[in-house]
Amino acid sequence: MSTMASLGSTLERWLTGPRVAMLPSPSSLPPPQLSFEFFPPRTAKLEADLWACIRRLEPLAPRFVSVTYGAGGSTRARTHETVARLRHETSLTPAAHLTCVGATREEVDAVARAYWQAGVRHIVALRGDPPAGAATYEPHPGGYAQAEDMVRGLRRIAAFDISVGAYPEGHPAALSPAADLDFLRRKIDAGASRAITQYFFDTDVYLRFLDRCHAAGISVPIVPGIMPVTNFASVKRFSALCGASVPAWLERLFDGLDEDAETRRLVAATVAAEQVRTLQANGVDEFHFYTLNRPDLTYAIAHILGVRPQAAGTPGPEGPGADRQAGAP
Ligand SMILES: Cc1cc2nc3c(=O)[nH]c(=O)nc-3n(C[C@H](O)[C@H](O)[C@H](O)COP(=O)(O)OP(=O)(O)OC[C@H]3O[C@@H](n4cnc5c(N)ncnc54)[C@H](O)[C@@H]3O)c2cc1C
Repeated sequence: MSTMASLGSTLERWLTGPRVAMLPSPSSLPPPQLSFEFFPPRTAKLEADLWACIRRLEPLAPRFVSVTYGAGGSTRARTHETVARLRHETSLTPAAHLTCVGATREEVDAVARAYWQAGVRHIVALRGDPPAGAATYEPHPGGYAQAEDMVRGLRRIAAFDISVGAYPEGHPAALSPAADLDFLRRKIDAGASRAITQYFFDTDVYLRFLDRCHAAGISVPIVPGIMPVTNFASVKRFSALCGASVPAWLERLFDGLDEDAETRRLVAATVAAEQVRTLQANGVDEFHFYTLNRPDLTYAIAHILGVRPQAAGTPGPEGPGADRQAGAP
């Protein structure tokens, strides 16, 4: 009786449920362009971890690798050192994150000029978040008020390649989705050549955002930010702050795995691989990975996307030569 009942529900699902097509095999699609994001290390041990991560990912010949800027400019020196070392000791093209928080325009401009002098041609220009303890963002009296102003300032300094942030689910401070999109369009109009998105877990959210960007006349690449989740609890905490929603299905997948790091990693790889393959099947051909300075998941997911190590000395599509042609000292 119970067999009949379960057969009935299986048949019911088969007859009425959605048909889901196979995803195309990676070999039938060109390998996508990748970029990787790192954060500057605080200790000697973390520095060793970061450089092991960089060396593991370097053969994948990413388009660029970026280094974050701590809240309120707290990592200014460490970001600069990491970017300079990437520039001088690797085949990679580094991009330096820079924020408007707690600095005058002159100070931000001086940091940008120092990057240009060091041969760094790519800046990820961001407003930054309010310093810890402050509820709302207050621009520095003599500083750039928001990312759009910084993009304009950088353009006046040199011919930087400029990336900006984008928010498929809306920035938490956005007045409306339309106002948020308008802010993005203004950053692009000010001179940014690409946007990198906040991470998201619902692929449809990003694809619909892309539709809205195109409808608003934004034609630069909107590169999806991919966050492989290994520490679900901390991703959930951070998501609440940055406005990325955590779907119930994701919560359920990590349910009961708090003490089981190995299974968490397997689940994380499966979730991220499914996400990037669905995006790739929808025509997305650039991905930015939030590596959290850990290489393994990013490497595995890149492999699934069809990206293979390049022979030493084979530059990626934009590096290392590209950023050094424009009159680097
Ligand atoms: C890819 C990426 C990398 C990041 N890296 C870093 C990093 O290295 N260091 C760091 O500190 N932070 C980083 N952040 C976080 C970022 O600094 C915060 O999200 C910040 O709150 C907004 O920065 P933004 O450059 O997007 O700001 P903006 O584009 O200037 O503004 C973001 C949104 O805020 C609203 N807004 C801004 N100004 C106004 C206004 N005057 N009136 C009304 N609404 C307004 C708009 O909705 C706008 O879209 C990153 C974010 C992303 C997506």
